Formats: sequence, C-alpha cells, structure tokens
Amino acid sequence: MTTPDSDAFGRVLEAGYARLPERFYARVRPTPVVGPRLLAWNEALAAELGLRTDALDPRALAELVTGNALPAGAEAIATVYAGHQFGQFVPQLGDGRAILLGELRDRAGRPREIQLKGSGPTPFSRAGDGRAALGPVLREYLVSEAMHALGIPSTRTLAAAATGESVLRERALPGAVLARVASTHVRVGTFEYFAARNDRAALDALCGHVLHRLYPHLVDSPRPALGLLETLIERQAGLVAQWMAVGFVHGVMNTDNTSVAGETIDYGPCAFLDAYDPATVFSSIDRFGRYAYANQPHAAHWNLARFAETLLPLIDPDVQRAADLANQALARFESLFETRRLALWRRKLGLAVPLEGDAELAGDWLALLAANGADFTVAFRSLARALPERAADAAAAPGIHPGDLLADAGAFDPWMRRWHARLALEPTTAVARAQAMDLVNPALIPRNHRIEQAIVAAESGDFSQFTALARSLARPFAEPSGPFADLALPPQPQERVRRTFCGT
Ligand code: AMP
Ligand code: MG
Repeated sequence: MTTPDSDAFGRVLEAGYARLPERFYARVRPTPVVGPRLLAWNEALAAELGLRTDALDPRALAELVTGNALPAGAEAIATVYAGHQFGQFVPQLGDGRAILLGELRDRAGRPREIQLKGSGPTPFSRAGDGRAALGPVLREYLVSEAMHALGIPSTRTLAAAATGESVLRERALPGAVLARVASTHVRVGTFEYFAARNDRAALDALCGHVLHRLYPHLVDSPRPALGLLETLIERQAGLVAQWMAVGFVHGVMNTDNTSVAGETIDYGPCAFLDAYDPATVFSSIDRFGRYAYANQPHAAHWNLARFAETLLPLIDPDVQRAADLANQALARFESLFETRRLALWRRKLGLAVPLEGDAELAGDWLALLAANGADFTVAFRSLARALPERAADAAAAPGIHPGDLLADAGAFDPWMRRWHARLALEPTTAVARAQAMDLVNPALIPRNHRIEQAIVAAESGDFSQFTALARSLARPFAEPSGPFADLALPPQPQERVRRTFCGT
C-alpha cells in the first residue's frame, strides 16, 4: 500500500519496519482532523534528515504532520508491543496513539523513523482516544530537543501541529500532533511481546531487523543476540549516567518506554530537578518512587534483565549456557554505570585526570547540595566562578557563587579547599578548565515551571514563550542574556512544579 499523497517533505519514505511480518503491527491510517495548523517546524532536524528546506508550505506541512495527508512512500502502521509497567507484565500494549509512517536515511546515512503521535485511534488504543493534547506535545518538543542539545541520546521532534479539535482530559484541551523521529521505535517491550508468545521466528526477525539497522557490525559476530544485549547494557548505563548528570528524571521507565537504540524515549511525566534531592519523584502515578531520580540505574538494570530474558533462546541453544552469558553481561551494568557517572562528575568538577578520591569529592559536593536545598543546575554552573584562579577576585567572575546557594554559606569553604587542592594536581590551564566546565554544566535546562508557563500561554493562543524557550534551549551551554537571562533561574517557591502527569 504505497500512498504518494504529498511531497511536502521533499523525500520519499521507505517502509522499513512495515516490511516485517504482519503480526508485528496493524495497518492503520491517521484519522483526519478538521483544522491542521503548523505550530513548530524543526528546521535543523529537517535539514539533517534531508527534507525540503526551501519553498516550505506551512499548510502542506500541517497536513502531513497531523496525518491528513501521507508523505510519499509512507506505509502507515501502529506497532504492537508488550511491557512491564511498574513491574507488572502487560502482554499487549502497542501504539495506541501513534502511527509510524516509515523511515529514511539521514544525511549521515543513519536510518531514522518518522512517527506521528496523537494521530487518532489504532487497534491498540484500548480505552484511549488516540489523541494528544497541546500541552504534552509542546512539552515533548521542548524536552526532547533540549536533551539532544545537551548531548544526550534522544528521540527528536520534527514538528508540532494543532488539530483544530479538542481532546477531553479532565477538561477539554486543544488537540495537537507531534512528529517524532527515532533511530528505531523498537522497545524492550517489542521483544517481550514475542517472547511471551514463544514466537521464535518473530524474535529472530526482530533481532535481525534491529541489528541490521542499528548495529550492523554485530551481524556477523559469533553471537549477535548477545552482542545486542551487551551493546544495550552499555548504552543504557551511559544514558542513565547522562540523565543524572543533568538532573533528568524520566518518570516512567517501563520496559515499553526503553528503546533498543539507547535513546531517551516517551516523554511523559519527565522533569528536571530544581533543588537537588536524590529521592525526587515528579510523576503522580509513581507512588512508591520506583523511578525516583536516584533509582534510575536500578530501574534500567531491571529492564535490561527483562530484555536479556527475551533473548535467551537466541543467545545459545543450551539454556544454562545462554543464562550464564546473559548474567555475565548484566553483571557489568553496575560498573559501566558507575564508571560513566564518575567520569561525568569529574568533568563537571573541572577534573581532567582520574585520581583516587574523586568519587568522595563529588559525593560530598552532592551531599552539600542536598543538605542545603541548592539548585542542581545553578550550583554546578556556579563552580566555574569559584575556581582557584577566580576565587580571589569575585569581580573577575560576576554571577552567583556556590557559597551563595547554600543555606549554610560557611559549609562551602571546607569543601572548596579540598576541591582546590585536588585541582592543583591537574595539568590543564585555568582558562581551558573554566571553558570545559561551561561545556558540561549547562546554564539552561528545560525547567518545569517555564514549560508549564509556556503551555498555559500556548493554550490561549500565545506561542511566544514556547518559541523563546525552544530557541534558547538549543544552546544550553551559552549564558542566556537580555530578556532570556531569567530562563536560567530556578523557580520561585510558588512557581515550583512538584507533580507531573502522564499527559495521556
Ligand atoms: P505511555 O505511558 O505514554 O508510554 O503509554 C502507555 C500505553 O498507553 C501505550 O500503549 C500508549 O500507546 C497508550 N496510550 C497512551 N495515551 C493514549 C491515548 N490517548 N489513546 C490511546 N492510547 C494511549
Ligand atoms: Mg510509552
């Protein structure tokens, strides 16, 4: 079923996942909407994907993004998957409000899938309406693109469009659709779906599909399925370490929200820490803190164990041998994660060479932040202003200093002396160090209160805050200036967001 409806993208999609057997998905077209209107178009990503960059027609693009028209070559499908949600196995989930259009090779030759989210019901919608509200669409746009700009693997957002229709949540809200781009939308839950059905042929096909697209170097290795497991273990360990280094809390780390590409996927109740508290939970449905900030590595490890279980028959025909190999791979997670996390803390503290005692130094700094309710992002950013070469001359480094952030200002000095003594063992020059720190300690993160303010304004038709945020968040390591300077500030107590919702 090729539907060459529109060439507004300027490229013909390939089927990709839709070439897998029919039991991997349902063929379903997006449900047309009455009033498509383009809200945001990610020009940089469009260029990366080799899409049309000249003679853009916002109306034609809005038709494509809402699913009223299909891009040339599209084979619209909703994929099926299962998943462990908060530890409970759900044998069938699937794209309940998302439709995969197809894929293309980007300018770098990498496969990228384009999916519409909020484009109408599918056979997997269960009780849901298949739609998305404007707020969650704008939130995913801002946060996914901010993650990318922060250097963290993530699905991307190509565009957002209004539907001109309302969606009924607790109240009627304006509807919207998001065009999402991922290296793959295959999740750990996709493997679980077929494993639960003992569908060995499907598991082989799925594993082959993922390996060929994402990890072609593993295809001819002696144990490709084991290689896939090891690779995802490494990627997830690195990913969660990166999340934690910017204070990101995913919020719903279910196996159906765990991408086999190692990209951050499914931005629902996610949020960034303001004040540093490792026990932070934002999501209203995470009642026991399963996915709290500090529990994220454990959750990732648990999800990877579920992934390993699905791969056992592909790893080795001897059940015991397969289990041993999988367990050896899983046993590496913790040290991979700790190594990666420590490397990030070092960079954030301006340390280029690894030395014994660095973990304690970083841990004590974090403990200071926690004990004093200091803002995580501002505190790390401020460290470069307290470098030894600057500490003596506050005028040389105007702005907030770490001591200013601690309720007990005197608590900073003893730690600073240790840090300065440690920095004295570094070979890097002072200037290079300050610059390097500013490239790992962002000035800007997508702060929850700013996102919410932008959404409230957008719901009444004013997109200026959304646009300003999107633009600023594309350069998170630059100090925002002029009217944007306050985007770097933590929330006032009354602005602080403590609870987030799934946005379904
Ligand atoms: P999530 O928590 O967003 O990852 O979604 C979990 C499951 O619920 C997935 O299978 C989604 O497709 C489905 N879902 C979420 N919201 C909706 C909706 N509005 N309509 C239909 N299905 C939905
Ligand atoms: Mg999901």
